[in-house]
Amino acid sequence: MVVYANPNTDGAVVHFKDRYDHYIGGEWKAPAKGQYFENPTPITGECFTTVARGTAEDIDAALDAAHTAAKTWNKSSPTERAALLLAVADRMEENLEKLAVAESWDNGKAVRETLNADIPLAIDHLRYFAGAIRAQEGSLSQIDDDTVAYHYHEPLGVVGQIIPWNFPILMAIWKIAPALAGGNCIVLKPAEQTPASIMVLMELVGDLIPPGVLNVVNGFGLEAGKPLASSPRIGKIAFTGETTTGRMIMQYATENIIPVSLELGGKSPNIFFGDVMDADDSYLDKALEGFTFFALNQGEVCTCPSRALIQESIADDFYDLGIERVKQIKQGNPLDTDTMMGAQASNDQFEKIMSYIDIGKQGGAEVLIGGEAVDLGGELSGGYYVAPTVLRGSNDMRVFQEEIFGPVVATTTFKDYDDALSIANDTLFGLGAGVWSRNGNVAYRAGRDIQAGRVWVNNYHAYPAHAAFGGYKMSGFGRETHLMLLEAYQQTKNLLVSY
Ligand code: NAD
Repeated sequence: MVVYANPNTDGAVVHFKDRYDHYIGGEWKAPAKGQYFENPTPITGECFTTVARGTAEDIDAALDAAHTAAKTWNKSSPTERAALLLAVADRMEENLEKLAVAESWDNGKAVRETLNADIPLAIDHLRYFAGAIRAQEGSLSQIDDDTVAYHYHEPLGVVGQIIPWNFPILMAIWKIAPALAGGNCIVLKPAEQTPASIMVLMELVGDLIPPGVLNVVNGFGLEAGKPLASSPRIGKIAFTGETTTGRMIMQYATENIIPVSLELGGKSPNIFFGDVMDADDSYLDKALEGFTFFALNQGEVCTCPSRALIQESIADDFYDLGIERVKQIKQGNPLDTDTMMGAQASNDQFEKIMSYIDIGKQGGAEVLIGGEAVDLGGELSGGYYVAPTVLRGSNDMRVFQEEIFGPVVATTTFKDYDDALSIANDTLFGLGAGVWSRNGNVAYRAGRDIQAGRVWVNNYHAYPAHAAFGGYKMSGFGRETHLMLLEAYQQTKNLLVSY
């Protein structure tokens, strides 16, 4: 058993078990085939626990438990569902530091992010959907003198959810909260790179949840994810991950004709119009911080502002100031609360990022800063650290078109508004975008003209529960936040009644 104590977060101690089983029907269940896989922490590269390696048999067992629980939970009242979500939120809040450290240890991200953003956002999301389900109303329409149409919301039944590794607990809660609020039972498959922090969460909140309502099966994509996504026993599959995997998920769902939501990759443009340099210091400061956000969460964010477009008229000054800001990003042990940038989530991801930096160089991009791996020394030498990297080139290069999912920003310049928008929209993706301008007309028009589901205007990387979040184009479809997500986990029943 590994015990990790972090003096910087009020002494929060996380006891990771040596071995995690699946969480099925309110109990810890060994995998049917008896196999476990090793889970390293990206902070040092060392294995700290082993985790059940799920297969189709485990998915079946979880679906059995979920269907049994659904007989009751599908009929639960909005008040009961809200009470459950609020109880889970409260328990998470009581254990904020512990969850923040667990998430950081499992994923490599900076604990200052997990403490101040990831876990608080997850808690707020639960509370938002607790309120939403109690406020949800049906409708009644008069069809003619004798007939009325009632519209009700019903649960889908049992739903499948598959998530990636970049925000393990937040991605889990983003999916769990609206599904439970909608009255559904769940089988969740976390990512194989970050299976442990979610199991710490289940240890903390499991006793609050009726057995079988929420089941967690760990394992790999083809072994555990595919049997879940292709099962005829789920009423919906909700997926977050890579675009190529999303395409497969859609194919599985086609067989069963069930709804799919896909939150996929991105290559988000962050546009800096010339007037940012004329603005007051505090605005310019905010804009420069917005430029550095490509390194937030080590760049492992689907909406990472991984393409920065800078107006030619300010390019020289903006590059100088931007690079100075990048130098201030403090990279270090993710568990130190002043560390701003931690480790990449896995060795595979680390290697992928390094290979993309090479692809950039070979394709003619100039490295303005970074471009190398970082050795932080001591026990951190085995961890997966990459320096924040600014490349300069043109939008036709691979590093501008393909998702790197690391702390690498591909920058270029533009002449005028039309040029900026044509570069911004010249991508297969359409998830996020940033616009920086003090000119309200330009900012608003650009916000409208960019083909992306979320455009941040004069801010970036805010994720309130009540603002819709989701993709255009190859970034997927469906929304992950906002009231509209509740109905995405429900059927609409119409009763057409004559008297
Ligand atoms: P991934 O697609 O490799 O894996 C995601 C999940 O899918 C994992 O749990 C994996 O085990 C599972 N999986 C893999 N193959 C499967 C299959 N054939 N059938 C069923 N399940 C399968 O993605 P990743 O590398 O873990 O995550 C990074 C990607 O996620 C990036 O592209 C990123 O942009 C995207 N992402 C998107 C959002 C969003 O909201 N749009 C949020 C976070 C991450």
